[in-house]
Amino acid sequence: MKRRNFLATLGALPAGSVLVAATPPPAVRTIETDVLIIGGGTAGTIAALQAGRLGARTILVEANSQLGGTTTTGGVDFPGLFHAWGKQVIAGLGWELVTAAAALNDDDLPNFTKPTGREHWRHQVRIKGALYAALAEEACLKAGVQLRYYESPIAVTATPGGWRVRLVGKGTDVTVLAKQLLDSTGNAAVIGLAGLPRLREKVAQPGTLVYRLGGWDMATIDMPLQQKRANAAIAAGELKMTDIRGNIGGFLRNGGDNAMHVPGADSSTSEAHTTTNIAGRASMLRVLRFLKQEPAFAFLKVERLQPETGVRETYRIVGETTVTHDDYVKGRVFPDAVAHSFYPIDLHVDGSIVPKHLDEGIVPTIPLGALIPKGSKNLMVAGRCLSSDRLANSALRVQASCMAMGQAAGVTAALAARAGTTPSQVPLADIRRELARHGAIVPPRV
Ligand SMILES: Cc1cc2nc3c(=O)[nH]c(=O)nc-3n(C[C@H](O)[C@H](O)[C@H](O)COP(=O)(O)OP(=O)(O)OC[C@H]3O[C@@H](n4cnc5c(N)ncnc54)[C@H](O)[C@@H]3O)c2cc1C
Repeated sequence: MKRRNFLATLGALPAGSVLVAATPPPAVRTIETDVLIIGGGTAGTIAALQAGRLGARTILVEANSQLGGTTTTGGVDFPGLFHAWGKQVIAGLGWELVTAAAALNDDDLPNFTKPTGREHWRHQVRIKGALYAALAEEACLKAGVQLRYYESPIAVTATPGGWRVRLVGKGTDVTVLAKQLLDSTGNAAVIGLAGLPRLREKVAQPGTLVYRLGGWDMATIDMPLQQKRANAAIAAGELKMTDIRGNIGGFLRNGGDNAMHVPGADSSTSEAHTTTNIAGRASMLRVLRFLKQEPAFAFLKVERLQPETGVRETYRIVGETTVTHDDYVKGRVFPDAVAHSFYPIDLHVDGSIVPKHLDEGIVPTIPLGALIPKGSKNLMVAGRCLSSDRLANSALRVQASCMAMGQAAGVTAALAARAGTTPSQVPLADIRRELARHGAIVPPRV
């Protein structure tokens, strides 16, 4: 049928409507920038904000719909630790956004002067994740950062002056020519695309779907009986041990929240992440249905349910420097230290978590070399994939540390782009000066 005749068969179009016969192919465009950051999560958001505030032309690409990554979409909206042994050791742009989110929602900050002993989580700051994401977005836009949601890189090629990166998204296909490239995907995805080596464990730590249930009275619950029923449901295959980490009392005391495990959680490909998200939601539904049939839970309610299963561990890079467990627990001050980190060694293995606290007074540091892939040019990482052994990584991966390394990477990438050099050639004194000027706490020089 001829097009004119075909249109005639459709009759009159509603006023204002335009008939589109076929989806046009995405327009292929090329954009130039100083700093291209892939992954707008915990670390990448801060890196972009910092590079933008230093005047670098900055593009931030995020596969999801909002900034913040594990802090927001993953529901781990209790960032820490910014304080150690009674004083603040991490500040800067992450701290600025975290405290802005708390202030706007009238959320209380913990009393940081009160030592936590072994209860380190008492110094985590409880914020509203989506509010943090909105504030981070506003701050990035104000700093001139170009935000590109729903896009991912599919090809990464080194050029004489930096990198050529092809980004594909919903109806978009864009090539970015960037002087500096930063991988803050949590999975070292760009490092993989660039063909550089990555490390991963044979069995990764489990993930967690953050969700909260409520509507029961703990005082009315017969806990031994409830545990017996849970055990029976596990034996019958209605529940899995990992749904409640084998402990219904622990699950109920927290209302869920961060009390389940998704074994084999992986976010490094769309397929793996899909499987991981489905496994998290299936677990939540099993627990919900199990509790619903118990008389004590007649008023059970889902109070919170995150859209994504949080993933703790995938790839780490092989950097110019690798932070070891020994470096971490001894509080080694690296000659190129750009930030502090502070957390217990916190490996989730075999269904158990045994945090190993640092000795009194120890405050570990993060070297710039752990953010630079070995032998690379014009390339950095920030976030949990930094170069570190597994035990050191279990502490370095926490949010305040990721935010601090994001800021350090943002400064370094912006200065490298400005000087037309590579991150390892940027004078440390310049990096330290700019970090301090933007509110970060820089470890003392050794
Ligand atoms: C369940 C759980 C509990 C935790 N508990 C704590 C805790 O109590 N305290 C604490 O401080 N930390 C905790 N952590 C650790 C901490 O939250 C994470 O290690 C940290 O947030 C990771 O930050 P990141 O910037 O490396 O990655 P993310 O914050 O995950 O950011 C990565 C971003 O990159 C995007 N991305 C990925 N691939 C692509 C791609 N190909 N293209 C474009 N974008 C991409 C993602 O969508 C995401 O937004 C926990 C983690 C989990 C999962």
